[in-house]
Amino acid sequence: MSDRRFLSILTGSFSTPCADNPTVAMIEAAYRHHDIDARYINCDVKPGNLADAVRGAKAMEWVGFNCSLPHKVAVIPYLDALSESARIIGAVNCVTIRDGRLTGDNTDGKGFLASLREVADPRGAKVMLLGAGGAARAIAVELGLAGTGHVTIVNRDPAKAETIAALVRDHTRGDARAMPWEGEARVPEDVDILINATSIGLGDRDAIPPVALDSLRKGLIVADVIPNPPKTRLLREAKARGCTPLDGLGMLVNQGVIGVELWLEKTLDAGVMKRALQDIFGAGD
Ligand code: NDP
Repeated sequence: MSDRRFLSILTGSFSTPCADNPTVAMIEAAYRHHDIDARYINCDVKPGNLADAVRGAKAMEWVGFNCSLPHKVAVIPYLDALSESARIIGAVNCVTIRDGRLTGDNTDGKGFLASLREVADPRGAKVMLLGAGGAARAIAVELGLAGTGHVTIVNRDPAKAETIAALVRDHTRGDARAMPWEGEARVPEDVDILINATSIGLGDRDAIPPVALDSLRKGLIVADVIPNPPKTRLLREAKARGCTPLDGLGMLVNQGVIGVELWLEKTLDAGVMKRALQDIFGAGD
């Protein structure tokens, strides 16, 4: 009589379009590395099918799933509870299913913070954050919760930046203000960390956010959320000026680590996951 089990733990992702989402390759590489009998299924879920997909995951006893665009806000009514940051951010990208209860979390900002902590302590730091979309919102809230001193949010549409600044001021101990993005943004001398949270640079190694390059001084930490290509032009210019560059792969990898900790209570090897992404995106300059 065989004692082999033929039932894998199920995790995955609901989004659309999703054919270019590499998370499955990253997480399944780590499941294999740790000999964990689990699968991560990348599912194309159209907006009208989200409710059925969530019900299906629950019915099939998935332990959790990521949800990406366009479901990060729409999924909330189907959940039983939200983590503190998901509640403040108003968006969920990671759902844990335990004893039939669904809890929503947001790992975008947490993944970024975990990556940032590899090079700097965010507590008390002064941050300049470029962009005011979903990634910027999650990062700003987590920075505030982590005790960052001050965040200046720079965006073409300053009203969007002010909405995020108010979230930080009202729901965290952090301070924040909005600034309109006109011409080239200069990084003030007292800023410790510059973060590009715009989509500029995605899939285009020559694109760069309009920042005065002579304000990128030695010692400044320059982080980019763009995972593809990992060495964006902003990071290359920053490195050439003596700044500490931080690429968007770390944010993606740490989101995977945090998600699986929530689902399986196991910590995956971040190095294995990063190498899986580098095989896909390339690691070079
Ligand atoms: P959104 O579409 O919500 O926001 C995009 C932001 O970029 C907006 O603030 C927009 O400004 C700004 N922007 C776009 N083009 C320009 C431009 N030419 N000049 C100035 N500002 C510009 O996107 P998300 O926040 O969801 O995602 C942003 C990026 O983050 C994506 O490229 C995504 O790949 C990356 N990301 C990476 C993750 C990772 O794990 N590494 C995780 C999540 C996202 P405006 O408001 O004025 O239009």
